[in-house]
Amino acid sequence: MLKGKSALVTGSTSGIGLAIARALAAQGANVTINGFGDKASIEKERNGIEKEFAVKAIYSGADMSKPAEIADMVHASEKAFGSLDILVSNAGIQYVAPIEEFPIEKWNQIIAINLSAAFHAIRAAVPGMKSRKWGRIICTASAHSLVASPFKCAYVTAKHGLAGLTKTVALEVATFGITANCISPGYVWTPLVEKQIPDTAKARGLTEEQVKRDVLLAAQPTKEFVTVDEVADLAVYLCSDAAKSITGANLSIDGGWTAE
Ligand code: NAD
Repeated sequence: MLKGKSALVTGSTSGIGLAIARALAAQGANVTINGFGDKASIEKERNGIEKEFAVKAIYSGADMSKPAEIADMVHASEKAFGSLDILVSNAGIQYVAPIEEFPIEKWNQIIAINLSAAFHAIRAAVPGMKSRKWGRIICTASAHSLVASPFKCAYVTAKHGLAGLTKTVALEVATFGITANCISPGYVWTPLVEKQIPDTAKARGLTEEQVKRDVLLAAQPTKEFVTVDEVADLAVYLCSDAAKSITGANLSIDGGWTAE
């Protein structure tokens, strides 16, 4: 379905981003993967994508808190594949603390990586998409782009901002064959969720098991974590021609969380 197209997925060395990059490659897209991690494991993943799906895959170690590195990554991706047709702005981090104790550097870092990085990547990718009259922009937002939870002020702020940014871009590019949408998962079992459990336990005075059951899955009526493959399948659908009229949307995939 995506043969001849190329995609860049930020934050794709792990979790949701990795599943999206693999799912797009499975549809025939060449992919740029990005993110931090062990160099040998990243190379294994990149090489594995090429072999398994018979596409080209490159890696960029660009830091999503650095605007110049983001623009360079977009341009390197265009140069490597001749175009950048699909941009998935996915990299994100979390920090959990009461607002009066929330470290200023964590606030700045989360706003930079979870929100401003999407602006810088979209800004760099849109001219090429406009010239080719085709593009798909997908931002991994969150149920926290629609509702809040205590102790996550920076994350909730960034994700609400991302939803606004995506809607604005959708309006600007609507007549160029480009769509821009948010995917908003509830709790997906990935390293990001796993890592915040000890801090949430500390902030709320609960055990880690209680956090899983009474805090995380309490919000999710299905009482099940969303899977990375379910999120990746939605991203693939948004890249299809069948989804060309879906733009400016914020699509929940949250087991019913935000219906309450
Ligand atoms: P994850 O920790 O598994 O993956 C995050 C990715 O971002 C990794 O590849 C990491 O290396 C990369 N990254 C972090 N900082 C970076 C930086 N400065 N520059 C470049 N790459 C960087 O997390 P995940 O759960 O897969 O989260 C992916 C996205 O999905 C995030 O935006 C997150 O907010 C969102 N999300 C996750 C959940 C969930 O429950 N897991 C729910 C809703 C939304």
